[in-house]
Formats: sequence, structure tokens, C-alpha cells
Amino acid sequence: MLFDYLKMKEAEKILAAKGIRPTETRSTIYKHLKRKFYAITLREIEKSFIKKSDNNKTADRTTIYRTIKLFQEKGIVHQIDDGTAIAKYAFSDGKNLDLHLHFHCTHCGNTFCLPNKVSQDSLPVKYEINDVNLVLKGVCIKCRKAKAYKHRIVESNHKNKKEDTPNKFK
Ligand SMILES: [Zn+2]
Ligand SMILES: [Zn+2]
Repeated sequence: MLFDYLKMKEAEKILAAKGIRPTETRSTIYKHLKRKFYAITLREIEKSFIKKSDNNKTADRTTIYRTIKLFQEKGIVHQIDDGTAIAKYAFSDGKNLDLHLHFHCTHCGNTFCLPNKVSQDSLPVKYEINDVNLVLKGVCIKCRKAKAYKHRIVESNHKNKKEDTPNKFK
């Protein structure tokens, strides 16, 4: 795996600032999470440790799990339960509780953090929040665009009454 030296330094600095000793595994997991624009599963993280050359894992499942739990404790990531029965993880905004909404696309299966926040005032007086799991479900912009594109093509084909089109999108 190729590492960007500068980025490696940056990841290490951030981890150290959070009181986490920046091992290579931790830095790699941190960078992997940072690159993703959607929430990822432990299995996806695990895949990033499999080297193409020898098919050997450089970090085992337990190490990855412990790292994620440590990141969660330190407020670097938060866990999202999007209803798929597999926990997903995404970067946190630095606060103890992430009161933002999530969006789960039922088409591609990806789950994203949304910038929209839920107000603390949503809670009755003297209640205390320990956990948050806010998930909206539907179809993401990428999947909607893909659908709309296919739909347009099918319509125009229908108008032209051409019969040679079905293999076009393979
Ligand atoms: Zn989608
Ligand atoms: Zn989130």
C-alpha cells in the first residue's frame, strides 16, 4: 500500500492530539475512514488491510474492532445503525453526541451523514440522551440520477421505435 507521507503525518498528529498513540494500523484506519464520503462497515475497513500481492492481512479483525471502539470512545467516529443489521461507522463532528440526521439509500445501500442537526430542545426537560440513531431512508442523488437517465433513454427509444437498444447499458 502506498502512503502519502504528508497525510500520514497529519493523521498521526490528529490521533496524538486525541490522546491516541498513532500506530500504523490506527493511522491507516483513520485515513481510510476519512477518504470515504459514506459510512463504512468493519468488513470494508478489513478489506483495506488485505495486500493485493500476497493476500495477507496486515491487521486482524480484533485489532480493527478495537481501533474503531477506541476511535468511538475518543469521539473520532460514531456508529450508525441504518437498519441493515450491520453497524457502520463515520467521522464525528467532534462533539460528544452527534445529533445529525443520516440518510440510508435503499438502492445502493450506502449511508451518509447529513449536515442537518436535531435540536437538543427536541427532548423534554430533564431528559438525558445517551444514544442517537437518526436515519432517513430513500434514494440518494447518484441513484436518482442513474434512474432518471435510464428512464429518459427508455422513453426516447420508445418514441423512435428502435429495437436494437437493450444491450446499450451493459
Ligand atoms: Zn444510492
Ligand atoms: Zn453521522
